[in-house]
Amino acid sequence: MNKKTKAEKVILILKDIYGEPVPTLNYENEFELLIAVILSAQCTDKRVDIVTAELFKKYKTPKEFMEMDIKELEKIIHSTGFYKNKSKNIKKCAKMLVEKYDGIVPNNMDDLIKLPGVGRKTANVMLGHIFNIPGVVVDTHVKRLSNRIGLTKQQDPVKIEFELMKIIQKKDWFLYSNLLIYHGRAICTARNPKCDNCKIRVYCEYGRGIK
Ligand code: SF4
Repeated sequence: MNKKTKAEKVILILKDIYGEPVPTLNYENEFELLIAVILSAQCTDKRVDIVTAELFKKYKTPKEFMEMDIKELEKIIHSTGFYKNKSKNIKKCAKMLVEKYDGIVPNNMDDLIKLPGVGRKTANVMLGHIFNIPGVVVDTHVKRLSNRIGLTKQQDPVKIEFELMKIIQKKDWFLYSNLLIYHGRAICTARNPKCDNCKIRVYCEYGRGIK
C-alpha cells in the first residue's frame, strides 16, 4: 500500500474515534493561544491551563505583557519548566507584536516564525486553530507515530513536516496532526504502545512487526 493511501485510511479510522480537533488549551483570543502554546513546550496542557488561568486574569494584551515585570512573569510560569527562557521569549514576542504588528498576531507562517519563541510547530498550531489555514504540526507524538506507522523515516521535525505535506491531502494536514496527537496520548504512547488495542494496527509497520 502506498503512503498516500495508508495516510487516508489512518485519518478515516482515527477521525471516527476522536472526531474533529478541538483546542486542548484554554484561551479567549489569538494572543492568549500564542502565549499558551509557547508555555506548553515540555509541559502538559493541564499545567499550562492552571498557569494561564492566573496569568491572563492579570495580563491580557501584548502591551501589558511587554510592560510586565519579568520577575513576576517568571514566578507565575515557573511550574511550566524552562521558565527563564519562556519568560524572555514571551516578553520579546509581546514587544515585537506591539512594535511591528500593531499588537495583532500575524496570520501567516513567515511573520509568525519571526516572533521570539515561535517555531514552525507553534505557527502551525496558530494557523490551524485561529486562522483555519492548514499546516502539519509536528510535535513529539506526530514524529513518533508517523515513524512507527511508516509514513516517514525522518527524525528532524521540519523534514517530517515537508515529507508529510507531500503524502497527506492539504485539507487534512491539520486534522492528521491533531488525530495523531490524540492517538499518541491515548494508545500509542512513547513507552509501551498499546498495539493490541489499536484500531490502525493493520496499517502500522511497528504494530505489524515490520520494524
Ligand atoms: S499499532 Fe502500536 S505502534 Fe502502531 S500506531 Fe498503534 S499503538 Fe502505535
